[in-house]
Order: sequence, then structure tokens, then C-alpha cells
Amino acid sequence: MASQKDRIKKHKKYFKIRKNHTWLSILFYFVVLCLCVLAIAGIVELFVLFAVHSGIEHEYDSKSDLIRINQELATETEPYLLFDKANMNYFIRDAQGNTVYSNGNMTCSDKGYDYLLSLGASSNIFTDKEDNTGEVTTTIYRDTEIDLVRPDEDQSVEINLLAVAKQMFKVLKSSNSGNEQLQLPVWLTVEMDNGSELVFRANVTMRSTDVALTLILVIGMLALLVIVFIVLTIHTIANAVNRRKVTKLFFTDMKVKGNNWMWFLLHSEQKLRRFGNARKQFALVDLVFTAYRRFCICHSVDEAESVLGRIYSSLASQLGKRELLAHSSEDSFSLMLEYTDEDTLKSRISALLASLSEIEREHSFSYHAGVVLIPAQEGAGLLTRRRYVDVESDYNLARAASASLEGKETSAYAFYDDKLVEEQRWADTVQELQQKALDNEEFLVYYQPKYDPRTHELRGAEALIRWQSPEYGFLAPYRFIPIFEKNGFITEIDHYMISHVARAQKKWLDEGQKCVPVSVNVSRAHFIESDLAEQICKSVDKEGAPHELIEIELTESAFFDDKKAMIDTISKLKQYGFAVSMDDFGSGYSSLNSLKDMPLDVLKLDAEFFRGEAADTDRGEIVVKEAIQLAKSLNMRTVAEGVEVKEQVEFLASQGCDMIQGYYFAKPMPAEDYEQRMRAGRSDGEEQ
Ligand code: C2E
Ligand code: CA
Ligand code: CA
Repeated sequence: MASQKDRIKKHKKYFKIRKNHTWLSILFYFVVLCLCVLAIAGIVELFVLFAVHSGIEHEYDSKSDLIRINQELATETEPYLLFDKANMNYFIRDAQGNTVYSNGNMTCSDKGYDYLLSLGASSNIFTDKEDNTGEVTTTIYRDTEIDLVRPDEDQSVEINLLAVAKQMFKVLKSSNSGNEQLQLPVWLTVEMDNGSELVFRANVTMRSTDVALTLILVIGMLALLVIVFIVLTIHTIANAVNRRKVTKLFFTDMKVKGNNWMWFLLHSEQKLRRFGNARKQFALVDLVFTAYRRFCICHSVDEAESVLGRIYSSLASQLGKRELLAHSSEDSFSLMLEYTDEDTLKSRISALLASLSEIEREHSFSYHAGVVLIPAQEGAGLLTRRRYVDVESDYNLARAASASLEGKETSAYAFYDDKLVEEQRWADTVQELQQKALDNEEFLVYYQPKYDPRTHELRGAEALIRWQSPEYGFLAPYRFIPIFEKNGFITEIDHYMISHVARAQKKWLDEGQKCVPVSVNVSRAHFIESDLAEQICKSVDKEGAPHELIEIELTESAFFDDKKAMIDTISKLKQYGFAVSMDDFGSGYSSLNSLKDMPLDVLKLDAEFFRGEAADTDRGEIVVKEAIQLAKSLNMRTVAEGVEVKEQVEFLASQGCDMIQGYYFAKPMPAEDYEQRMRAGRSDGEEQ
């Protein structure tokens, strides 16, 4: 449970890191790009400002000088002859701002002027006007203030960078053909002595070497930008690929090369939360491959994993597109199925289980499926999101359902319901009380005598456990034995019973009773222990009871475990002098094969043979007769269990059955009552 919580934490953390990482990268790239663009813009702007300012100053100075020279030379009537001669574009304003003289092209439509710069003045000081004759002449707005002054360092100059860039390229192109200057047209004003102003159009010149230098810088910066961009792109792609790999690794189960529990948790929750899915019904299924551990021990982990892989593939091939599958822990698989009604779901799960039994048929694997239903949310529509989603908790209920099947030999499924909750609670209670009950000797040994059907003589008994619980009263074995088998406490119980029976036999022997062998049940869980025979021998010897007075009963289902180990243990027990019997013969499984291989002493015919209507038919009798014959041929004694009626006793007697253990003669009884039975030696027959 704790490990699961840890896994979820890790999972959430991982996604947080992934998310942060992505956002950080995007932010980082954005900042770097902005910085590069700003740097380029800054360089161009600096250069242009510098070039323009120095150009303007140069023009200003040269024109001021010209004015000065001209003023010294000029006559009243032709004051600016020199400018006219030079074909300069200029006009003169008096102190009131009236244009008193103009020469050359006064339009501002000259390319370059508009978009290049204006120095602190409106660029609309000139306008084109159509006169009566339709001729376009350029006049000057007399009321427009032009206040250009000598530009200083702080003068603001508006520059259209794109235009400058274009111009620069032009210059570079033309520089190849010998023209090495960039002309930027600009209007400048020079104040004159008499308060009037000379406004002239000048070309600010830039040297192509400067332009080239700037362009190299710009291209360098652009190249850097491209390099940075490429590096970042490669980095991003590599990152994305890596992230994909990590994600895949994080969500992949290497044993089955498929999805793992993390993947399942994430996708199932996403699916349940999706819009519209609140209207749908889902089932979480915990599917357990029950033989996994046994298979690992008997074969190899590699082989077991290959079986897991085949189970996964088989399940995957049977799922719908929107259904989910994962290998959630070593022996279990998680599924999320969609269903419309429970009956269809049940047949679907049965079909899944049946299909899995086709895998490695010779091993007859069984599977347990625990199912929990996630019903549709009431009143949910297409745009409704499911309110409650907790796959982990729900899945635990599915696990509880599959755990309730533990011990079942065949494939089966169980739905989680209230009865299961009750059972689970009871199992927890039993587990809490078991050790205290053992220490306080709350477990009692009852004895059910076995009689000879012909002579009615006492020939043996079976020790059967009862629990006298101070909290819950007198409890029959079905209330707690299956729980002990699941939680492993059964091995303690088996030892407890063997010790108590051996102790009782020793006591009765010492008292001079006519003791008969008493059989003790040994669970299959116990039979996995390789030194079981030694353990039993030690327990019996400790009490000082003769071995021939103790018999070991094995249930038929135990025979499906590791055959070789089983034969070894049985042989050892026999060497030590204990009789070994096969319990419940004929209850469900065909163990004829086991009979062939196991050196058993006693065959206990299951009570099923003598129950129900079929028991009294000819066919029923034939089966019992043949079973007894078979046992005899194999040199085994027979015990018929659950015999309740006289006719059956007589029939069994006629067939040579050795012993009868059933209510006809006696029910299981406390030790004191059994002592009396021993003393009596034989039964008068019918008990009730
Ligand atoms: P089992 O070993 O097959 O024991 C025989 C069961 O059949 C006993 O039930 C007995 O009371 C019942 N029985 C015998 N004759 C008749 C009859 O004529 N009619 C009917 N209706 N029943 C009859 P019990 O004592 O309730 O034990 C149930 C099962 O619990 C046992 O089945 C055995 O598997 C298990 N068990 C009991 N004691 C122990 C124990 O000490 N250790 C282990 N591992 N299992 C035990
Ligand atoms: Ca038994
Ligand atoms: Ca039995």
C-alpha cells in the first residue's frame, strides 16, 4: 500500500518536472531570441544614428560655410546666385517665416526623404498643388513652422530601419559598380544673420565601407541568431526524443514489453475524467495469473516471464480501442473495460479467462479476475466530467475481489460487493485473533471415528479442528481454515494438531486404551516445505507417540503442486512409519494420475459419492465399487466419508470398503467422548 502511494508520488513529481522543464525551455528560447533581435536592432540603430548625425553635421557645416562665403560675395539682387548655380534644392524664409525665394525641386516625394528621417519638424512643410492650368507646382506652407536648428548629440532622429537596410543593400550593390556612397536625402535649415533661414535639401552621405561593416556585423549577428536557433532546435528535438524515451521507460513494463501500472493509473484516470465519459460504465479488472510463482520455481523466471508476455498479448488482442491494459505487478494484469450491462460483462470476462487457458494448455493454468464496477454518473451528459475519480482505491477493491478467489484451483471471477466486504472484515478479525487463540489453546481437537462397515469395530479416527473463541463462540473449520490457508497460519495449525493428537495418543496409550490410528489434515501450503516429513517426525517424537498411530491426510488439490517434491515427502513419511492418505478423492479433480505416481496407503472417498439422488442409482454404485476396486488393486485401504444411511453402509461393506467415517456411526466429537468410543471398541450402528 505504502509502496503504491510512493509510486503515485513519484509519478506526480515526474509530470511536474516534465511540465516545468518544457516551460523553462520555451521561456529560455524566447528570451535568447529576443536578445538576439534586440542586439541586431541596436547595432543597426547605433550605426545609422551615428552615420546620419555625422552626415548631417558635415552638410550643415559645409552649407553654413557656403552661406558665409556667399554673404560676403553676393549682391543685393542676387544673394544666392552660388546656390542657384550649384542647382541646389533650397528655399529662403524671412524672419516672419515667409518664403522669399526658392530654387530647384521642392517636393518631398524624393525617395528616401519621407521614410528616412525628419529632424524635429513636420515633414509636411511642402505640398503639391494643382493650379488653374492643371500644372503641378510645389509651394510651401507659409504658416508652417520650421524650426530646424543645428542638430546636437541629443537630437532625436526617427529612422526607419527597414528602409535603411534596403538602402544599404542598394549601396552595396551599387558599390560594385563604382558608386561607393549611400545618399540619404534630408532637409536642413541654416539660420542667417538677418533672421532669415536657408532651408536646403542635402544628401547625407555614408561610406560604403561603413555600410559594409555594419552589414557584416548584422549578417554576423543574423548568422549567430541562426546558429543559436539551430542549436536550440537540435537541443529541443534531442530533449523531446529523450523525454519520449524516458516516458516510454517510465511507463513500460520490461517483462511483458507493455504498459505498466503507472501508465494504467494515469490513462484510466484521464479516461474517466474525459468529457462525456461520465455517462459510460467502466469495469476495473484485476486479473491474476495464479500459477506464476509456482511456475517460476518449477521452471525458470525467464520461462515464466515469457508466459506473462503471451498472456499480455492475448489480452491486448481482445480489447477494444478505448480499453486499457497493463501488467501491474508480477502475477497480475490490470484492465479497464467498457460495458453496457453486467451480464454481457460477465460473459466477456468468462471468454477472456477461457481464452487465456489456451496458453500453455499442458500446464492448465488458472486465472482469477476481481472486478469492480464504475457506474455511469447520474444525469451526466456529453459535457459532464466525472466528479469522483480514484482509480487506485477502486482498483484495490478489484484486488480484494480477486484475493477472495485465492485457493480456487480453476479460473474464476468475483465482483466486488458488500458480501465481499464482510468476508474481508472477518478475515482481518481472524488474522488479528489467530496467534492469541493458538497461545491460549482456544483451538480444540475433535475426533470423528472411522468404523469397519462389516464388524462395526473402531478402526481409526480423523482429528478435526474447532475454535472455542471467547469473542465469537464455537466456530466450525469452514469459518477460519480457508483464511488460515490464505494467510499462511495453516502451517502453525497443522503442527498444533499433530502435536496435540500425538500427545493425546501417547496419553491414551499410557492409560491402556485400545488406540487406533488418528489422521491429521496437512494443508497443501505445508507440503511446499521440503523438510515437512522431518518436521512431522520431530513433533510426534517430541510427544513420544508411536508413528503408526498417526496418519497424514492430503487433500487432492495438493497433488497438483510439484509432483517430485510431493512424492519425496510421501516416501519419507512412509519411511518414518506414518500412513499417508489421499483425502476427498473424487471431489472435482481427476487424480487418477496422482494415484499412479504417489505411494499412498489410504484412499478417502469424498462425501460427494454418497450425497444426492445420483448416489443411490446403479451408476453411482458402479463408480464407488470401481473406486474401491482400484484402491485395492493399488494396495490401498479405503475410507468412505460422509456416509449417513444404513443402506450405504451395507453396500460399502459388500464392496469391501475398509472404513466408514460418517454421521451414520458418529459425528466429530470432543476428546472425552472419543475416549468412550475407544473404550467401547465397536459401534452399535446408527447414531441418530
Ligand atoms: P475434511 O477433511 O473432508 O473433513 C471431513 C468433514 O466432513 C468434517 O467437517 C466432518 O465433520 C464432515 N463430515 C463427516 N461425516 C459427515 C457426514 O456424514 N455428513 C456430513 N454432512 N458431514 C460429514 P469439518 O469438521 O467441518 O471439517 C471441514 C473441513 O475443514 C475438513 O474437511 C478439512 O478439510 C478442514 N479441516 C478440519 N480440521 C482441520 C485441520 O486440523 N487442519 C486442516 N488443514 N484442515 C482441517
Ligand atoms: Ca480430512
Ligand atoms: Ca475429506
